[in-house]
Amino acid sequence: MILYDCHMHSDFSSDCKALMEEQAASAAEKGLKGICFTDHMDLEYPNTKEFGMDFLFDMDEDYSRIDKVRKEYGIRIGKGIEIGLRNEQGVSERVTNGYKELLKRDDIDFVVGATHCLDMIDPYLADYWQGMSVKDSLRRYFIAILENVRNNPYIDTLAHIDYLVRYARIPGGDPDKYDGRDLYIDGENGDIIDEILRFIKENGIALEINTAGLKYGLGYAHPKDWILKRYRDMGGELITIGSDAHKPEHVAYAFKETVEKLVALGFKEYAVFEKRKPVFYKL
Ligand SMILES: [Zn+2]
Ligand SMILES: [Zn+2]
Repeated sequence: MILYDCHMHSDFSSDCKALMEEQAASAAEKGLKGICFTDHMDLEYPNTKEFGMDFLFDMDEDYSRIDKVRKEYGIRIGKGIEIGLRNEQGVSERVTNGYKELLKRDDIDFVVGATHCLDMIDPYLADYWQGMSVKDSLRRYFIAILENVRNNPYIDTLAHIDYLVRYARIPGGDPDKYDGRDLYIDGENGDIIDEILRFIKENGIALEINTAGLKYGLGYAHPKDWILKRYRDMGGELITIGSDAHKPEHVAYAFKETVEKLVALGFKEYAVFEKRKPVFYKL
Protein backbone atom coordinates (compact mmCIF):
# COMPACT_ATOMS: atom_id res chain seq x y z
CA MET A 1 0.00 0.00 0.00
CA ILE A 2 1.05 3.57 -0.56
CA LEU A 3 0.21 5.58 2.53
CA TYR A 4 2.14 8.74 1.77
CA ASP A 5 1.50 11.16 -1.08
CA CYS A 6 4.73 13.09 -1.46
CA HIS A 7 3.98 15.54 -4.24
CA MET A 8 1.06 17.91 -4.03
CA HIS A 9 0.26 21.57 -4.27
CA SER A 10 -1.71 24.10 -2.29
CA ASP A 11 -2.88 27.69 -2.67
CA PHE A 12 0.78 28.71 -2.31
CA SER A 13 1.33 27.48 -5.88
CA SER A 14 0.40 29.96 -8.63
CA ASP A 15 -1.57 27.32 -10.54
CA CYS A 16 -3.45 25.82 -7.58
CA LYS A 17 -6.60 27.10 -5.93
CA ALA A 18 -7.03 24.26 -3.43
CA LEU A 19 -6.41 25.34 0.14
CA MET A 20 -3.78 23.49 2.11
CA GLU A 21 -6.54 22.55 4.56
CA GLU A 22 -8.67 21.02 1.78
CA GLN A 23 -5.75 18.96 0.48
CA ALA A 24 -4.96 17.71 3.99
CA ALA A 25 -8.62 16.92 4.68
CA SER A 26 -8.83 14.89 1.48
CA ALA A 27 -5.69 12.93 2.40
CA ALA A 28 -7.03 12.17 5.89
CA GLU A 29 -10.36 11.08 4.44
CA LYS A 30 -8.59 8.75 2.02
CA GLY A 31 -6.77 7.09 4.89
CA LEU A 32 -3.28 8.35 4.11
CA LYS A 33 -0.76 8.50 6.92
CA GLY A 34 1.06 11.46 5.51
CA ILE A 35 1.54 13.95 2.70
CA CYS A 36 4.14 16.47 1.66
CA PHE A 37 3.38 19.89 0.23
CA THR A 38 5.69 20.66 -2.67
CA ASP A 39 4.60 24.07 -3.88
CA HIS A 40 5.98 25.49 -7.10
CA MET A 41 9.12 27.60 -7.06
CA ASP A 42 10.20 28.36 -10.62
CA LEU A 43 12.82 31.10 -10.43
CA GLU A 44 12.88 33.22 -13.60
CA TYR A 45 9.76 31.57 -14.99
CA PRO A 46 9.75 32.81 -18.63
CA ASN A 47 6.00 33.10 -19.28
CA THR A 48 4.74 35.19 -16.39
CA LYS A 49 3.16 37.65 -18.85
CA GLU A 50 1.20 35.00 -20.76
CA PHE A 51 -0.24 33.31 -17.67
CA GLY A 52 -0.20 36.12 -15.12
CA MET A 53 1.61 33.73 -12.79
CA ASP A 54 5.13 33.89 -11.39
CA PHE A 55 5.36 30.44 -9.75
CA LEU A 56 7.03 31.84 -6.64
CA PHE A 57 5.96 31.58 -3.02
CA ASP A 58 7.07 32.67 0.42
CA MET A 59 8.60 29.66 2.15
CA ASP A 60 8.22 31.17 5.64
CA GLU A 61 4.49 31.65 5.14
CA ASP A 62 4.01 28.25 3.50
CA TYR A 63 5.83 26.39 6.23
CA SER A 64 4.21 28.20 9.13
CA ARG A 65 0.81 27.40 7.60
CA ILE A 66 1.91 23.74 7.44
CA ASP A 67 2.65 23.95 11.18
CA LYS A 68 -0.94 25.04 11.76
CA VAL A 69 -2.50 22.47 9.41
CA ARG A 70 -0.45 19.70 11.03
CA LYS A 71 -2.25 20.31 14.31
CA GLU A 72 -5.69 20.22 12.71
CA TYR A 73 -5.50 16.92 10.83
CA GLY A 74 -4.36 13.57 12.12
CA ILE A 75 -1.73 13.00 9.45
CA ARG A 76 1.94 13.77 9.00
CA ILE A 77 2.64 16.74 6.75
CA GLY A 78 6.06 17.28 5.26
CA LYS A 79 7.56 20.60 4.24
CA GLY A 80 8.64 20.31 0.64
CA ILE A 81 9.26 22.37 -2.46
CA GLU A 82 9.16 21.68 -6.19
CA ILE A 83 11.91 23.64 -7.89
CA GLY A 84 11.95 24.30 -11.62
CA LEU A 85 15.41 23.52 -12.99
CA ARG A 86 16.77 25.30 -16.06
CA ASN A 87 19.47 24.53 -18.57
CA GLU A 88 19.51 27.67 -20.70
CA GLN A 89 22.85 29.45 -20.88
CA GLY A 90 22.87 32.55 -18.77
CA VAL A 91 19.88 31.36 -16.71
CA SER A 92 20.97 27.97 -15.45
CA GLU A 93 23.72 29.06 -13.09
CA ARG A 94 21.80 32.01 -11.64
CA VAL A 95 18.71 29.90 -10.98
CA THR A 96 20.76 27.09 -9.40
CA ASN A 97 22.48 29.60 -7.09
CA GLY A 98 19.06 30.96 -6.18
CA TYR A 99 17.80 27.53 -5.18
CA LYS A 100 20.94 26.75 -3.19
CA GLU A 101 20.33 29.94 -1.22
CA LEU A 102 16.65 29.08 -0.58
CA LEU A 103 17.51 25.53 0.47
CA LYS A 104 19.92 26.58 3.20
CA ARG A 105 17.15 26.52 5.79
CA ASP A 106 17.06 23.45 8.02
CA ASP A 107 13.32 22.79 8.19
CA ILE A 108 12.91 21.42 4.65
CA ASP A 109 11.91 17.76 4.35
CA PHE A 110 11.86 17.21 0.63
CA VAL A 111 13.14 18.85 -2.57
CA VAL A 112 11.52 17.82 -5.85
CA GLY A 113 13.53 18.74 -8.94
CA ALA A 114 11.46 19.32 -12.07
CA THR A 115 12.10 20.50 -15.60
CA HIS A 116 9.08 22.59 -16.60
CA CYS A 117 10.66 25.03 -19.08
CA LEU A 118 13.38 24.94 -21.69
CA ASP A 119 14.48 27.22 -24.51
CA MET A 120 13.00 30.12 -22.49
CA ILE A 121 9.44 28.91 -22.91
CA ASP A 122 6.93 26.72 -21.08
CA PRO A 123 6.06 23.83 -23.43
CA TYR A 124 2.48 24.11 -22.24
CA LEU A 125 2.31 26.90 -24.83
CA ALA A 126 1.66 25.77 -28.42
CA ASP A 127 4.47 28.04 -29.66
CA TYR A 128 7.04 25.74 -28.11
CA TRP A 129 6.11 23.00 -30.56
CA GLN A 130 6.43 24.99 -33.77
CA GLY A 131 9.48 24.50 -35.92
CA MET A 132 10.65 21.23 -34.40
CA SER A 133 9.37 17.66 -34.71
CA VAL A 134 7.93 16.00 -31.63
CA LYS A 135 10.76 13.47 -31.85
CA ASP A 136 13.39 16.23 -31.70
CA SER A 137 11.52 18.09 -28.96
CA LEU A 138 11.47 15.00 -26.78
CA ARG A 139 15.18 14.38 -27.27
CA ARG A 140 15.92 17.99 -26.48
CA TYR A 141 13.88 17.69 -23.30
CA PHE A 142 15.67 14.58 -22.04
CA ILE A 143 19.05 16.20 -22.76
CA ALA A 144 17.89 19.22 -20.74
CA ILE A 145 16.95 16.95 -17.84
CA LEU A 146 20.37 15.30 -17.95
CA GLU A 147 22.07 18.69 -17.80
CA ASN A 148 19.73 19.81 -15.04
CA VAL A 149 20.38 16.83 -12.75
CA ARG A 150 24.13 17.13 -13.31
CA ASN A 151 24.01 20.80 -12.32
CA ASN A 152 21.61 20.25 -9.40
CA PRO A 153 22.64 16.98 -7.70
CA TYR A 154 21.35 18.25 -4.33
CA ILE A 155 17.68 17.52 -5.24
CA ASP A 156 16.00 14.62 -3.40
CA THR A 157 13.89 13.27 -6.25
CA LEU A 158 13.68 13.76 -10.01
CA ALA A 159 10.08 14.64 -10.86
CA HIS A 160 7.90 13.46 -13.74
CA ILE A 161 10.76 12.60 -16.11
CA ASP A 162 8.60 12.38 -19.26
CA TYR A 163 6.32 15.29 -18.36
CA LEU A 164 6.83 16.97 -21.74
CA VAL A 165 4.72 14.38 -23.55
CA ARG A 166 1.57 15.73 -21.86
CA TYR A 167 1.73 18.77 -24.15
CA ALA A 168 3.17 17.20 -27.32
CA ARG A 169 1.84 18.89 -30.44
CA ILE A 170 2.71 18.21 -34.06
CA PRO A 171 4.08 21.43 -35.67
CA GLY A 172 1.39 23.02 -37.84
CA GLY A 173 -1.34 20.91 -36.26
CA ASP A 174 -4.30 22.04 -34.17
CA PRO A 175 -2.78 24.06 -31.30
CA ASP A 176 -5.62 22.99 -29.02
CA LYS A 177 -4.90 19.29 -29.44
CA TYR A 178 -2.07 17.24 -27.98
CA ASP A 179 -1.76 15.33 -31.22
CA GLY A 180 1.90 14.47 -30.72
CA ARG A 181 1.45 12.23 -27.69
CA ASP A 182 1.50 9.03 -29.73
CA LEU A 183 4.95 9.96 -31.06
CA TYR A 184 6.50 9.18 -27.69
CA ILE A 185 7.88 5.75 -28.49
CA ASP A 186 9.07 3.24 -25.88
CA GLY A 187 12.84 2.86 -26.00
CA GLU A 188 13.48 6.03 -28.00
CA ASN A 189 16.13 8.25 -26.35
CA GLY A 190 17.02 5.29 -24.14
CA ASP A 191 20.69 6.32 -24.35
CA ILE A 192 20.02 9.70 -22.70
CA ILE A 193 17.49 8.28 -20.27
CA ASP A 194 19.98 5.63 -19.14
CA GLU A 195 22.50 8.38 -18.45
CA ILE A 196 19.93 10.27 -16.38
CA LEU A 197 18.95 7.15 -14.44
CA ARG A 198 22.57 6.17 -13.84
CA PHE A 199 23.40 9.65 -12.62
CA ILE A 200 20.54 9.85 -10.13
CA LYS A 201 21.24 6.33 -8.90
CA GLU A 202 24.91 7.11 -8.28
CA ASN A 203 24.09 10.38 -6.55
CA GLY A 204 21.37 9.18 -4.19
CA ILE A 205 18.59 11.03 -5.99
CA ALA A 206 15.27 9.22 -6.10
CA LEU A 207 13.16 8.64 -9.21
CA GLU A 208 9.65 9.98 -8.80
CA ILE A 209 6.54 8.06 -9.80
CA ASN A 210 4.08 10.86 -10.58
CA THR A 211 0.55 9.58 -11.12
CA ALA A 212 -0.65 12.80 -12.76
CA GLY A 213 0.01 11.30 -16.19
CA LEU A 214 -3.07 9.12 -15.63
CA LYS A 215 -5.14 12.11 -14.61
CA TYR A 216 -4.10 13.91 -17.80
CA GLY A 217 -5.41 11.03 -19.89
CA LEU A 218 -2.03 9.75 -21.05
CA GLY A 219 -2.88 6.21 -19.98
CA TYR A 220 0.28 5.97 -17.86
CA ALA A 221 1.98 7.59 -14.92
CA HIS A 222 5.33 9.36 -15.26
CA PRO A 223 7.65 7.76 -16.01
CA LYS A 224 6.19 5.33 -18.47
CA ASP A 225 6.77 1.67 -17.54
CA TRP A 226 9.69 1.09 -19.92
CA ILE A 227 11.72 3.72 -18.07
CA LEU A 228 10.84 2.24 -14.68
CA LYS A 229 11.93 -1.13 -15.96
CA ARG A 230 15.29 0.21 -17.16
CA TYR A 231 15.85 1.85 -13.77
CA ARG A 232 14.99 -1.36 -11.93
CA ASP A 233 17.20 -3.41 -14.31
CA MET A 234 20.22 -1.23 -13.49
CA GLY A 235 19.59 -1.82 -9.79
CA GLY A 236 17.59 1.35 -9.13
CA GLU A 237 15.51 1.06 -5.97
CA LEU A 238 15.09 4.57 -4.62
CA ILE A 239 11.65 5.85 -5.61
CA THR A 240 9.20 8.46 -4.31
CA ILE A 241 5.51 8.57 -5.11
CA GLY A 242 3.20 11.53 -5.58
CA SER A 243 -0.08 12.46 -7.19
CA ASP A 244 0.95 16.05 -8.03
CA ALA A 245 -2.60 16.92 -6.95
CA HIS A 246 -3.72 20.48 -7.57
CA LYS A 247 -7.26 19.58 -6.41
CA PRO A 248 -8.48 17.63 -3.35
CA GLU A 249 -10.10 14.91 -5.47
CA HIS A 250 -6.73 14.10 -7.03
CA VAL A 251 -4.89 13.38 -3.78
CA ALA A 252 -3.51 9.79 -3.91
CA TYR A 253 -4.80 9.52 -7.47
CA ALA A 254 -4.50 5.97 -8.92
CA PHE A 255 -2.31 4.78 -6.04
CA LYS A 256 -3.95 1.36 -6.01
CA GLU A 257 -3.01 0.45 -9.59
CA THR A 258 0.37 2.11 -9.15
CA VAL A 259 1.38 -0.10 -6.26
CA GLU A 260 0.41 -3.22 -8.22
CA LYS A 261 2.52 -2.12 -11.16
CA LEU A 262 5.54 -1.23 -9.04
CA VAL A 263 5.46 -4.57 -7.24
CA ALA A 264 5.18 -6.38 -10.60
CA LEU A 265 8.25 -4.49 -11.81
CA GLY A 266 10.20 -5.67 -8.77
CA PHE A 267 10.11 -2.64 -6.49
CA LYS A 268 9.67 -3.46 -2.81
CA GLU A 269 9.80 -0.12 -1.02
CA TYR A 270 9.25 3.58 -1.57
CA ALA A 271 10.87 6.47 0.21
CA VAL A 272 9.41 9.36 2.17
CA PHE A 273 11.91 12.14 2.82
CA GLU A 274 12.17 13.61 6.29
CA LYS A 275 14.62 16.45 6.78
CA ARG A 276 16.09 15.54 3.38
CA LYS A 277 16.75 11.88 4.31
CA PRO A 278 14.84 8.90 2.91
CA VAL A 279 12.74 6.75 5.24
CA PHE A 280 11.55 3.54 3.60
CA TYR A 281 8.06 2.02 3.58
CA LYS A 282 6.93 -1.28 2.16
CA LEU A 283 4.85 -1.10 -1.00
ZN1 LIG B 1 5.99 19.64 -11.93
ZN1 LIG C 1 4.00 19.45 -9.04
